[in-house]
Amino acid sequence: MSIVKAEGILLRAHSYSESSRVLRFLTPGHGILAVMARGQRRQSSRGQGGLNTFDEVALEVSFRPHRDLQTLRGFEVTRSRRGLGREVIRFWGASLVAELLLAHTLHEGDQRLYEGVSGALDRLQELPGPQVPAAILAAGWTVLERAGLAPALTSCTRCGRGVDAGEGLLRFSTAEGGLLCGDCGEEGRGPRLGPGARRDLGELAAGRVPAELRGAGAHLRILEAFALHHLAPRRRFQAVELLHPLMSDPSGGSAKGS
Ligand SMILES: [Zn+2]
Repeated sequence: MSIVKAEGILLRAHSYSESSRVLRFLTPGHGILAVMARGQRRQSSRGQGGLNTFDEVALEVSFRPHRDLQTLRGFEVTRSRRGLGREVIRFWGASLVAELLLAHTLHEGDQRLYEGVSGALDRLQELPGPQVPAAILAAGWTVLERAGLAPALTSCTRCGRGVDAGEGLLRFSTAEGGLLCGDCGEEGRGPRLGPGARRDLGELAAGRVPAELRGAGAHLRILEAFALHHLAPRRRFQAVELLHPLMSDPSGGSAKGS
């Protein structure tokens, strides 16, 4: 057994017994780190010295290699993200990030993934309300991109032909991993995206938040389908079900755009 100090972002907490909780952290050095926290339940219900989901903390853990569950010795919150809990759409957006990360079942550390998630959660907490749907989508795509699952958007994912940004509607194939050129996508499954929607998707897939986004609900469906297919989680993402009614465009707009 050794004492390990690590940074971590709390992704999920659940009760284990009267007085204990199991906490799952994303860490830069150990991937997803699950720790047993004794005496944590009472502390957090008082809301003092407690830990909120998505907070960033300095952890001290008793670490035994090859164990699924480590033991928490102590922690200090270094970055509070309590603001995410004040608005349901922000909270469920951050929850989607957590679900994507937990579906990916990381065992190894990845500094770039950690930094990407940390920055995405900060934006999700801080950006003004109208940009929150785009911040959620950018955060979700950041996880997929840093997990090596970025969609192909600049060339046809089947034949490799370059895709012209000005071309009309082009099909996006979840199963094939990105856009299809006009010939390859003539028939088949998947939404057809216009130049505006493709430009927005390119921004989101790179983890950037477009200033204005049309068809956030349609973009959420694209992200959901892509993540379900390529991460193959055991069940659908609960956060997506809750986000759909919050992100649908009341005018019935789609991601096809102009
Ligand atoms: Zn093609």
